[in-house]
Amino acid sequence: MTTSGTARQTSHLRLVGIGAGPANLSLAALLHGDPRQPNFFFDRKPAFTWHDDQLITGATLQVSIFKDLVSLSDPTNRFSFMSYLHEQGRMYHFLNAQFSSVPRTEFRNYLAWAAESNENVVFSESVERVDFDGEAFRVTTDRRQVTADNIAVGVGTVPWVPDFAAPHLGAGQFHVSQFLSHAKELAGRRVAVAGGGQSGAEAFLDLISRPESERPACVSWISRRRNYFPIDDSTFTNDFYMPEYSEYFYRLSESKRAELNSAHILSSDGISESTLRAIYQQLYRLQFIERDEHRFGLLPNRTIVSVDRASSGVFEVMLRHNDESGQSQCLPVDAVVWATGFRPAPKTFLEPLMSRIETENGEARVDEDFAVSWDGPPDRNIFMQNAVRGQRGLPDVNLSLNAWRAQRIVNRLRGSSGPELAMSFIDWSAKNGRGTQWTL
Ligand SMILES: Cc1cc2nc3c(=O)[nH]c(=O)nc-3n(C[C@H](O)[C@H](O)[C@H](O)COP(=O)(O)OP(=O)(O)OC[C@H]3O[C@@H](n4cnc5c(N)ncnc54)[C@H](O)[C@@H]3O)c2cc1C
Repeated sequence: MTTSGTARQTSHLRLVGIGAGPANLSLAALLHGDPRQPNFFFDRKPAFTWHDDQLITGATLQVSIFKDLVSLSDPTNRFSFMSYLHEQGRMYHFLNAQFSSVPRTEFRNYLAWAAESNENVVFSESVERVDFDGEAFRVTTDRRQVTADNIAVGVGTVPWVPDFAAPHLGAGQFHVSQFLSHAKELAGRRVAVAGGGQSGAEAFLDLISRPESERPACVSWISRRRNYFPIDDSTFTNDFYMPEYSEYFYRLSESKRAELNSAHILSSDGISESTLRAIYQQLYRLQFIERDEHRFGLLPNRTIVSVDRASSGVFEVMLRHNDESGQSQCLPVDAVVWATGFRPAPKTFLEPLMSRIETENGEARVDEDFAVSWDGPPDRNIFMQNAVRGQRGLPDVNLSLNAWRAQRIVNRLRGSSGPELAMSFIDWSAKNGRGTQWTL
C-alpha cells in the first residue's frame, strides 16, 4: 500500500485489478514478485476493511483457515495465513488458542496485512471507466489513466433490501452491514431483525446479549425459512466447494445450475451451529433464569410484505405466514435491521464494453478460466471474480475457491498449468470417473 515500487511507475501493465477484497487480493498475492506480470490493484476505499461494521464480538470465519488467500493453490506463498502468524510472532499462541473456528477479526487483520504488504495494491483510487483501444484496456481512475493487457474485476457485493424498504433506510431502518454503527441506538427500543442467515443470527444474538443498559426492550427475529437452519458443513457437502465439483457444475445446463444453487443454499447461507447454540442458550437464560420472556420473539416461516410508518412514528411490519394461508400479523417496532443479504455490485465502469460482452441471466458469460466471452482479441481478457454464481455455483461468492480461481487466472496469464489435484472421492459425472471402470 505504499506509493513507491516498480509497478507504480509503469503506466502499461499486464493486469489491472479493480477492487481489492479477498478475491482480487488472492490474485494480487499469487502475481506478486513476478517481473513478467506487472500489475496494480485499485480499491476505492481509503484503507482495507472487511465487512468491518459486522465484526460483532464472537463472530468467526465460516470456513477452514486453509482457505486463506493462497494456501490451497500455492502453500509456500509469502501471503499465507501461516506467513502472517509467523511475521507477527504469534504462531505458538495461535496453536495454543485452539480456536475451533478463527475469529473473523483475526482473518480481517490477516487480509489487511496482505493488502498493506503488497506494494501493488492501491487504496483511495476508484476505477471509473474501462475502454479498449484495439490493443489494450485503458483504465481510468479518479486519479490517472493506465493501460493493461488484461483486467480482473473483483468488486464484490453490495447490501440488498426489498424494494419497499429501500426508500426508508436511514431513520430507524438499516442494513446489517452497518450494524455496529447503529446497535447502540437500539437500547430500550422494540427491534425487528429480518433475515434467517448468519448475519441475521449474529445481529439477533448480539442484541439479546447486550448489557441491560444497551439492550433493546424486545427483539423479534423474522425469517422466511421454516426454521433457523444450520449451515451444512459436513464432509461430503464440502465436496461442493472443491474445484472438481465447480468444473462439473459449470458444464451443466443453465436451468440445472439454477436448481442446484437453490437446493444447496444451506451449504452456504445457513447459520453456524455455534451461533445457533449460543442463541438458544441465551434464550434459556432470558426466559428461565432472568425470567424476562418478553424480550424476544422468534418468527420463522413468515414473509415481510410491507413496512409502514404509523403517525406515532412506530414501524408496522406486516408479516404473511407461509403455511397458514391468509394469516398475517402486524408487528409494531421502533427499528428494523435488514439482514437480507447482498447482491453483485454494479459494474458501471464496464459500460463502454458492455455491448461487446456475452451475458447469461444478467451475468457476464465466462470461460473455464473466468475470462469473459467478448469480441476482443483472445489474449486480452476481462477476468470476473465473485460475479458468476449462476455459472460457477455457490462457492463463487465464498472464500472456498478463492485461491484456486485466482490460480486459474494466473495460469492463463502465464500460459502455464498447475499441478493436478487429486480427484474427489465422488464421481459427479456419468461421463467419467473411477466408478465407471467397473461397469460391465
Ligand atoms: C459479514 C460477512 C462475513 C463473511 N464471512 C465469510 C466467511 O466466513 N467465509 C466465506 O467463505 N465467506 C464469507 N463471506 C462472503 C465473502 O467471502 C465475502 O463477501 C468477501 O468479502 C467477498 O470478497 P470480494 O473480494 O469478492 O468482494 P469484497 O470483499 O466486497 O471487495 C470488493 C472491493 O471492491 C472495491 N470496489 C468496488 N468498486 C470499485 C471501483 N469501481 N473501483 C475500485 N474499487 C472498487 C470495494 O471497495 C471493495 O473493497 C462473508 C460475507 C460477509 C458480508
